[in-house]
Amino acid sequence: MSTPNVEKHEFQAEIKQLLDIVIHSLYTEKEIFVRELISNASDALEKLRHLKLTEKEIFDKDLELEIKISTDDTANTITIQDFGIGMTKEELVKSLGTIAHSGSKQFLEALKEGGSKNDNLIGQFGVGFYSAFMAADEVKVYSRSWKEGEPGHVWTSTGAGSYEVEEVEGQRRGTKIVLSLKEDAKTFASDSTIKEIIKRYSSFVQFPINLNGEKVNTIDALWLRGKSDIKDEEYTEFYKFQANAWDEPRYRLHFSADAPLAIKALLFVPQENPERAGFGRIDPAVALYCRKVLIDSKPTELLPEWMRFAKGVVDSEDLPLNISRETMQDRSLIQKLGRVITKRFLKFLSEEAKKRPDAYQEFFDKFGFFLKEGVAIDMTYKDELSKLLYFESSAQEKGKKTSLADYVSRMKDEQKEIYYITGQNRESIESGPYLEGFKARGLEVLFLYEPVDEYVMSNLREYEEKTLVSADQGDLKLDDAPQPPSEGSLSEDESKALCTWLKETIGERVKEVKVSERLVNSPAMALTPDAMSSQMRRMMQQMGQGSGMPTEVLFEINPRHALMINLNTQRESNPDLAKLIALQAFDNSMVAAGLLEDPKDMVSRMYEILSQASETK
Ligand code: ADP
Ligand code: MG
Repeated sequence: MSTPNVEKHEFQAEIKQLLDIVIHSLYTEKEIFVRELISNASDALEKLRHLKLTEKEIFDKDLELEIKISTDDTANTITIQDFGIGMTKEELVKSLGTIAHSGSKQFLEALKEGGSKNDNLIGQFGVGFYSAFMAADEVKVYSRSWKEGEPGHVWTSTGAGSYEVEEVEGQRRGTKIVLSLKEDAKTFASDSTIKEIIKRYSSFVQFPINLNGEKVNTIDALWLRGKSDIKDEEYTEFYKFQANAWDEPRYRLHFSADAPLAIKALLFVPQENPERAGFGRIDPAVALYCRKVLIDSKPTELLPEWMRFAKGVVDSEDLPLNISRETMQDRSLIQKLGRVITKRFLKFLSEEAKKRPDAYQEFFDKFGFFLKEGVAIDMTYKDELSKLLYFESSAQEKGKKTSLADYVSRMKDEQKEIYYITGQNRESIESGPYLEGFKARGLEVLFLYEPVDEYVMSNLREYEEKTLVSADQGDLKLDDAPQPPSEGSLSEDESKALCTWLKETIGERVKEVKVSERLVNSPAMALTPDAMSSQMRRMMQQMGQGSGMPTEVLFEINPRHALMINLNTQRESNPDLAKLIALQAFDNSMVAAGLLEDPKDMVSRMYEILSQASETK
């Protein structure tokens, strides 16, 4: 029955899947489709506004930049029209038939992770254009591109697997979407329902919205208004609109400055960190405006990269409207603006950390990674950022975190360094050999669990002139501590002789064997000579390049430990077994240090020791 100039297309598989969920979802807030379609209309108008600055040839150039909505409660339709950039036939097919939209991609990823159909997910991500099918059983998209000479087309679909595209006459520039509403969605054909939805969701659209011939929005640049006359709900709605978000913002910072630049800024931090949820690197999302006119919605040079988790807007009347990233002068102006905002944001975070420590901890757990990234790679804000870092420590109970400033305030008078240990978790650090020497001396040690932490510490190097020192570093000097007296402890000469024997027995794999000043309860430990080499090594391991990089290892022994005392006699009475034990003790310490790469020898040797031990009655 199809007419000759109608082209039928199948939706991409992912879109079919998405549509199936959208259409059959019981998601109650169907009205979000209004917001999604208005937001697309607004994007299309924004793009046209930009084109007008550079392009001379624009079809229907003098059309008003506005959004027109009409409802018809007899025909049960709602029509949303914009005079924006429109779409060519190819663009219609690509944009509405394939998965171009990042929100819908995220939605599908989340679905894969979550498994079954989950209505809630629609609410969390928004599914863009396809949300139209929640309310409509047929959607027609009439569109005509801004490009001169491109004909208009109509795209039609019921959302069931395929869509049709046909050329149409008499189309104006932009896009007109006609929804034939489902039985249970008739309310969206009512003027008052739509008016109410627009008031709630779309009051920040920067273009006039006409509903059945009446202008319904006041164009409001919320960030230019005074703080005292903005309600919390308005801020939240603005955040949702601007960041295309569905959650409540975790933090909000609204401020203005006059010097060195005139700035009005409104920043938000969301609830969740999408990078942590595995959605890949996020784009910058603090939009740049000049006197209410959008200059760039994702400016890459405004804020430092580690601030990419922030959402919001920055408006400065000191920017030229035709600002260009190509000219040096404009670039440095943008960067100057960025520095003022970043400083203010960091100040805000440090105030929050003090005023509401629990909320800050929650923020830090989710977003701390970005701050750490900043400490590691951004010299400009290193000092301010370091004050915002929190770690668990030996002086705090599990789950509680401390700042470097608090650590310093607890330092003993004679203590000159800040100590830290890296490990998988608290348990593995506490059961390892490295902590005991610090414990015996009453020195606090920070516990670092994340791979990035060590990198952060070695880039930071010091805090308030106190050097940051890794506890498994060989060149570390600790003051003498009273060692627990022990029966039969090896004398200095005996210890020396044992060390020489151990060096000979272990051979090339160890650089030096010596008596430890740090061990209390463990028999021995392996150390790398300095912080640099252990950190380099762990980084290579994380990048999957573990082998092939020989590390110099120091082996320290505890002359008060029974194992060493016995070993010293056995090396004469039972040299074969003593040799096995020495090698095994060394490998054990290498495992504890995360330095053992090939456990093959260790396992077979262990069996050898076990069979010898099982022979003795
Ligand atoms: P998003 O808006 O996040 O890109 P959508 O699913 O809402 O995702 O829209 C998909 C794409 O369809 C848009 O990126 C845009 O290219 C195109 N599109 C949708 N609505 C319009 C419109 N009114 N005018 C022009 N293009 C549009
Ligand atoms: Mg959209």
